[in-house]
Order: sequence, then structure tokens, then C-alpha cells
Amino acid sequence: MSDCLIRGVGANKQFRVFAATTTDLVEEARRRHDTWPVASAALGRTLTAGLLLGANLKGADLLTLRIFGDGPAGAIVVSANAAGEVKGYIQEPHIDLPRLKEGKLPVGDAVGKGFLHVTKDMGLKEPFTGSVELESGEIGEDVARYLLISEQTPSAVALGVLVGPDCQVKASGGIIIQLLPDASEEVLLRIEESLKEMEPVSSLVNRGMTPEEIVALAVGGLEVRFLEKTLVRFNCGCSREKVKDILAALGKDEIERIYQEQDQAEVRCHFCGELYCFDAPELEMMIRQL
Ligand SMILES: [Zn+2]
Repeated sequence: MSDCLIRGVGANKQFRVFAATTTDLVEEARRRHDTWPVASAALGRTLTAGLLLGANLKGADLLTLRIFGDGPAGAIVVSANAAGEVKGYIQEPHIDLPRLKEGKLPVGDAVGKGFLHVTKDMGLKEPFTGSVELESGEIGEDVARYLLISEQTPSAVALGVLVGPDCQVKASGGIIIQLLPDASEEVLLRIEESLKEMEPVSSLVNRGMTPEEIVALAVGGLEVRFLEKTLVRFNCGCSREKVKDILAALGKDEIERIYQEQDQAEVRCHFCGELYCFDAPELEMMIRQL
């Protein structure tokens, strides 16, 4: 089953729901950045959160989620677009921390205390940024806090990544349920109860459940109207040409220095790990053109 994202509204517009399966794209991020298990889980949850928060993007809109914690993971940065493409990186992919009880990966300890920033670039003059202090560093709770404080939307957020004994990503997914202003007490309680009893999202995805089936479980069988389904994938969008422009922006002096010292330039894209090499003749050409 390919990774996908669904949107829906339920119980006569009393809640909104977004859910995604992201196993393949989180595994691709793991391979590209060579993340170890805790980092795979932290980055994977953030990639999934980026897609879910960006589910309403249109056209050329962009959503960037940045987590700056003081834990060993360092910064985590993820960017999602309206086409269901997401990219992202974690500053320290090679971190190893003792597992918690029941084999849970200690994402909160890896992230630590700090801030979460969500920037929406909707083609207006100024992109909008909302920031909140991290609640636990587990990312799901932090995103829920962001939605409540910054967007005034009470939300339940569950994100999960299951890493296998071979360190590969076996399952990944997430769900966000947002109560709308007309939500009744009954609907609220029903969703709260169902979420409490629900298995972790990663286990559900691992059992082969679709986002629709996960939603049905999460809302305790309340009626949901699904609006659309989008395929989602890891895609950076970087290219040799774009990287060359960034290199050129360093200026003639700096490129000359690289040329003298190293004879070639290697630039690795932060977001996807792709390595771009520019050899001596190419650098000479750039220097001449600047
Ligand atoms: Zn890239």
C-alpha cells in the first residue's frame, strides 16, 4: 500500500480529521540520512506531522515545521507542500539512547526542551509563523499544543513510527482530530474514550490498516465523510542547477578560495542528503562568469 493522506469531516461537521500512512517515505528519509532508531522515530513523526498540518495547503503554499530542542537530536526541520511532497532532516541522525519500557523509543529525551515553530507560506507578503514551547518533545503532544495555542483549535494528535530490529522503518503514520465549534459534549467524550483505548498508530499501520480504518477506530465509529485522498511521498526538489546557484551566491572570492584549496566543491543538500560535486573546470567557469 502506498503512503497516503486523507481528509474528512464527521458527525455533521462537529469535527475535522486528517490521517496518513507514511511508512515508505519515513523509510526513505531513514535511508537518505542514515538515521538510527530514535532519530528515525523523531524525524518520522515530524515528517508525518508536517503532512497532516499541511493537508489544507493549495497551489504553491508551503508549510515548514521546525523543532529546536536542547536534547541530543538537535534541530528537526520538515517542509511539506500542497502536492503531498515532504522533505526533512534531523541535525544529529546518529544518536543512541536507552529504550523506555515496552521497547518504546525515547523521542522526548532525544528532542528535549525548546520550541516548535510552524511557518505557513501562503503566497502572501509575510509568511505566518506560530511558535509554542515544547510540551514533552514527543512531537504529537507538541503539535496538539501548537494547534490549541496558536490556531485556537482543540485537537488530538497521535503520531507513531515503528522501527524493526534491523533498524528499518516497519510502519509509520499519524492522525489529527480537530473539534469544531459546534462539537457536542457527547462527541468529545466518544472521541476521547476511543483514543484512550486505541493501539498506537504505528501498530495499526503495521497491521495493514488504511487511514480510513484508523480514523473509524479513532472516532469510535462516529460517521465520517471523507473528502479526498492524496498520495504522499518524500521529495526534495533540489537539483544541480539550484545548488549551483547557492554556490554562486557565496561570491567570487569564496569560490576562488575553494578552487585553490580543494580543486573541487562538494555540497550536500540538508533536506535529502543528496551530494553534488563541482569539479575544477566547472569552478573555473563559475569564477569567470561571476
Ligand atoms: Zn535535496
